[in-house]
Amino acid sequence: MRTRPILQLTLSALAMSLASCSDAHAQNSVSSASSGAAQISSQSESRKAKNVILFIGDGMGVSTVTAMRIYAGQKRGMSGEEYVLPFEKFDNVALVKTYNVDAQVPDSAGTATAMHSGQKTNIGYLGIGPGAARANCESGKQHHLPLLGEEAKKRGLAVGIVSTARITHATPASVYARTTERNWEVDAWIDESQRDLGCRDIARQLIDFDFDVALGGGLAPFYGSAVGGARLNSSDDLPTEWVKRRRGNFVVDSASLAAAPLNRPLLGLFAPSHMGWVAERTPDSKEPTLTQMTQAAVQRLARDRDGYYLMVESGKIDHGHHAGRAGLALEEAVEFANAIQWAVDNTDPRETLILVTADHSHVFTIAGYPRRGNDILGLVVPPPGAGEEVAQASLATDGKPYTTLGYANGPGAIVGERVTPETGVGATQQAAIAMDSETHGGEDVALYANGPGAEKARGVIEQDVIYDIITSAYGW
Ligand SMILES: [Zn+2]
Repeated sequence: MRTRPILQLTLSALAMSLASCSDAHAQNSVSSASSGAAQISSQSESRKAKNVILFIGDGMGVSTVTAMRIYAGQKRGMSGEEYVLPFEKFDNVALVKTYNVDAQVPDSAGTATAMHSGQKTNIGYLGIGPGAARANCESGKQHHLPLLGEEAKKRGLAVGIVSTARITHATPASVYARTTERNWEVDAWIDESQRDLGCRDIARQLIDFDFDVALGGGLAPFYGSAVGGARLNSSDDLPTEWVKRRRGNFVVDSASLAAAPLNRPLLGLFAPSHMGWVAERTPDSKEPTLTQMTQAAVQRLARDRDGYYLMVESGKIDHGHHAGRAGLALEEAVEFANAIQWAVDNTDPRETLILVTADHSHVFTIAGYPRRGNDILGLVVPPPGAGEEVAQASLATDGKPYTTLGYANGPGAIVGERVTPETGVGATQQAAIAMDSETHGGEDVALYANGPGAEKARGVIEQDVIYDIITSAYGW
């Protein structure tokens, strides 16, 4: 948020010329409109966003949204189906095609790159085009894509990154990093043949990036082994390096986060790797919640008069699904909804565009014919029949009950004779095909939008169009 007067002058002149250019567009469309109502609509649609917040529920496919809606409603004592999540009140919704250039069912690196670089790429790549070879440092240099984080900083905006995953994990890294291998989060994880060829690990790229707020998990990639970190140089201490260079604040728990000054750049790393599960959170937890991190980010970024870009990821919805444990995923999802509600309540929809989406889906289903209000984490109990007094779980052809939530594959696969399934928040749901890690799903995900430029979130779109929605909302 430090300003460079000469650059700022040039940028504000550029911003003025861009503004007059798009005003001309707006006037053209107004003059061709035949009714007053159309004029009002056209004028409101041409308003620019000062700020954009992109909320990414990692792996939050449409079936996850439905299940989280029911779960959130049931936690409030409702039957659940009728509950409305904060982003379900947004007027603008689109379906998003998530495939990667080389993959029908995508990963988070390729999908997040589509949103932050404006182009689809291969599975596993960040900020690098599909022409490069995977895990090849040299070929990546020839295929750089734009990075929304870099572009926002060049235009004088403040930039924030928040995630419950490691801050060097694929989705948060897509804001600021370029690599042909998403696993190169720390230099020790780069293949030996590819080290010292001029490709920086992702942790190093974050420290070199001029962010204003970065909050999440993943201490280990920033430290050498002398303090229990993962870096090759045992004495490496990237946070201290960053604090000196940016005169920033580095925090490691919710108390130091709450006490940090608002007028300095902020780096917060709250766990050695990913942050803890919401479902296993204890009252004495030292980790901030996703809502607290979102609040800390917005309070700082909103001080920048030029506006800001903020990406908030709920990274562990995805991890709960990979573990085949829907309750863990849904607890993360409910906290994600809380963070979105906080942003809705504390930003101005006339100047802040809020987007909520997922990078990809999971092979997660809501099945059977459970009765209205049936425990979403429980066994399927059918609607009451005539004269039936006791609710009995439905039985499958093997004579055993089954759960509403399940997976097409994953750790809960049925091997041999099926047993009565587990239920509740900690349960592993049954699955058809045995896999150590449940997989992503390939169907479309939803995009929900509110604020200036939100009207572009309509129809069935390619995932890279989300980047266009963001950049055109800013008037770039
Ligand atoms: Zn995943």
